[in-house]
Amino acid sequence: YDRWIHIELVKRLDNKQIRELTVYSTIIVILLLTILLSYRYQRNRFKHYTEQINELNYASKVDLATQKVVWVSRSYADLRGCKVTDLLGKDYIELAKESFSEASIQAIREQLLSGEAWSGEVEGKRCDGSPYWVHLTLTPQTNWLGDVTHFWATRVDISDKKRIEQLSNTDELTQLYNRHYFNQILPKLLVRNYQTGNHLCLASIDIDFFKLVNDTYGHLVGDQVLKQVSALLKKCCPQGDALAFRMGGEEFLLVMFVENPDDFYQQLEALRIEVFNAKIENRDTPLGWVSISIGACCWQMEASIGNWELLYRDVDDLLYQAKQSGRNKLVTP
Ligand code: GH3
Ligand code: MG
Ligand code: MG
Repeated sequence: YDRWIHIELVKRLDNKQIRELTVYSTIIVILLLTILLSYRYQRNRFKHYTEQINELNYASKVDLATQKVVWVSRSYADLRGCKVTDLLGKDYIELAKESFSEASIQAIREQLLSGEAWSGEVEGKRCDGSPYWVHLTLTPQTNWLGDVTHFWATRVDISDKKRIEQLSNTDELTQLYNRHYFNQILPKLLVRNYQTGNHLCLASIDIDFFKLVNDTYGHLVGDQVLKQVSALLKKCCPQGDALAFRMGGEEFLLVMFVENPDDFYQQLEALRIEVFNAKIENRDTPLGWVSISIGACCWQMEASIGNWELLYRDVDDLLYQAKQSGRNKLVTP
C-alpha cells in the first residue's frame, strides 16, 4: 500500500501560500496604520481647533498634578495686562488666591477632580492691580484612563456689566448702596443667612436738623455733610460686615446679621457718639453740631423671612421715638 500511495507530510509553506500570507498581512498592517494615522490626524486637528478657539477666548489650561498654568491665550494675557510668559508656569493656586478663599479653592478643586465643571462670576486683578470681572468656566480634562489631569479655564469679560450694576446699585453722592439695591439684596441675604441661626438686625438712621445745615450753610455744604456722615456709616460695625444704604435724603439704613443683638446695639451707640464727636457744625441747633438719631431692632431669622417690609416699618417707629425723645439718641426695643 505504501509503495503505491505515498503520503508525505509537508512542514513548510509553499510559495503560493507565502505570497497569500504576505498579501493578507500587508493589507492588515496597512489598514491598522491607516486607522492609527487617521485617528492621530483627527486628534491633532481637534487639538489645534480647540487651541484656535481658546486663543480667541480668555483661556488658560492648568495641570492639576503640578498645579502649574501650562497654556495661556494671548487674549487672556491682554485682558490681565501682562505677557503670556508672565502667567505661564505660575502656580494656579497662588493666582486663584486673588479671587477665592482657600476653602473655596479646595471645594472647586474637588469638584473638578470628580469630573464636574464649575462656573461663576469672579473678580480678578490685572497685573497693574486694577480690578476686572469675568464669568469663569472651569472644565476638567481626562486622560485615556478617565482620570482628570488638567482643566481648561475659559472666561467672558463682564467688567462693563458689573460697572453698570454697580452704578445702578450705588448712590452717586455718598457711594453707599441705594434703596433699589436694598430691595433687591435683602431677600437674598435672608435666604443666605437663614441656616446660620444669626439675627437679622436693622438700624434706621436720620441726621438731626439737617434742613438747618442747608438753610445755614447752603446745599453744597449739606452735600459734604451727607458724605462725611456716610463715610462714618461705611466704617461702622467692623465686627459683622454691616451693609449701609442711603434710603433717601438724609435717611440711612444699616443691615447686619449677628449672633448677639447687643453687639449690634453697642456698635451703633459708638457710631452715634462718633458722628457727634466729628464736630460737624450746625450752629442753629440746640447742640451746635450735627448729630444722628437711630432706631434699631434685631429679629430671629424665622420671624424675618417674608415680612421684612414690616420690620423696616418697626425700626422707623423706633427712630420716630428717638426723635421725639430729644434726638441724638439710639432707641432699641
Ligand atoms: P429731623 O431732625 O426731624 O430729621 O429734621 P430734618 O431737618 O433733618 O428733617 P427734614 O425732613 O425737615 O429735612 C430734611 C432735609 O434734607 C430737607 C432736604 O432739602 C434735605 N436734603 C434731602 N436730600 C438732600 C441732598 O441730597 N442734599 C442736600 N444738601 N440736602 C438734602
Ligand atoms: Mg433729619
Ligand atoms: Mg428725614
